Amino acid sequence: MANGSVRIGKIFGIPIELHWLFILLMLIAFYFSILLGVILLLLFICVLIHELSHSLTAIGNKVNISKIILLPIGGASIIDDTRIDPAIEFNISLVGPLMSLFLGGIFGVLVLFTPPGLITSIVQYLFEINILLGIFNIIPAFPMDGGRVLRSYLEKKHGMYEATAITAKVSRYCMALILIGTVALFFIPNTGSFSSKESLALWNLIIVFFLYQGMSAEQESVEVRMETKGMLVSETVTQNYALIPYNSKLSDLYRLMKAKKEHIVLCKAPDNQYYLVDLFNNQALRRAGQIKDILVQIPNIPASMNIPDAMGRIDSNVYRIAAVTRGGRLIGLATGSHIGAYVALHMMNRRGKPLNN
Ligand code: ZN
Repeated sequence: MANGSVRIGKIFGIPIELHWLFILLMLIAFYFSILLGVILLLLFICVLIHELSHSLTAIGNKVNISKIILLPIGGASIIDDTRIDPAIEFNISLVGPLMSLFLGGIFGVLVLFTPPGLITSIVQYLFEINILLGIFNIIPAFPMDGGRVLRSYLEKKHGMYEATAITAKVSRYCMALILIGTVALFFIPNTGSFSSKESLALWNLIIVFFLYQGMSAEQESVEVRMETKGMLVSETVTQNYALIPYNSKLSDLYRLMKAKKEHIVLCKAPDNQYYLVDLFNNQALRRAGQIKDILVQIPNIPASMNIPDAMGRIDSNVYRIAAVTRGGRLIGLATGSHIGAYVALHMMNRRGKPLNN
């Protein structure tokens, strides 16, 4: 379990993780009614198919996918890669909503051919949920698929910075439209009961909040990318760690920690990758016999990688630590919190904000 998600299996070699809220929701649904549970399970499968279409398109374009995470409100395919080509991003982003609309279309046709009853209601539900998933995802606002489709389309002509700025503007228009629509809802007579209007309004506010967060994150990441142009991860590495040989025992680790007082211990495995010795999990430590039992994977990144790409790799790791190498040799350690602070100070400095007050 990492980041609140539980790995449930692999499809086409892609690890699938389920957020614990989703699991809890499904258990509660099954407890109260089998039908409700089945409906949630079907929703889960529809979101999974949507995400798989993104992931498989990415893999087809030689873009690595580290995992698919399914949340109660949708899913995310986590790209384990540096910047992708806009033309490829366009395809990866567009295929998801198209897949949902296509599935919706199939269920729409099926509704016409199933005799009335429970099955029709379920098929009808699948039709509606997929059409909704398709439409919701194609709205041209960050962080939706549609926002990425628009940005990658604009990128050819305007470059990434301006393309992101334009898409952020369109995102704000979308949020304004949702808010205006929500207010209008209460002024138009005969459009449902007051309580149904209230719950719809609440949903809309949650969506606007979600869109605003996604837009801000996207803008910030592009800003960081522009302002740190030419800066390499090698600028930010620290030598404050200890190395331990792969075949060491726990007693060696104890001696090393006593002598060196380092908080972070790395180990080079036979696969020539550097691993982190897990000192954060005392239970695993007590069960372990040797160092190799408590190694956890961390990104190994080349010293020549630029800072935003390195941050992306580091943030995809639970420990937010990366081994930085040059020609396969370890030159230092980069941590997410340190790079974050370094970049923030660098940006303040560039904007002429005096750093001495
Ligand atoms: Zn999507």
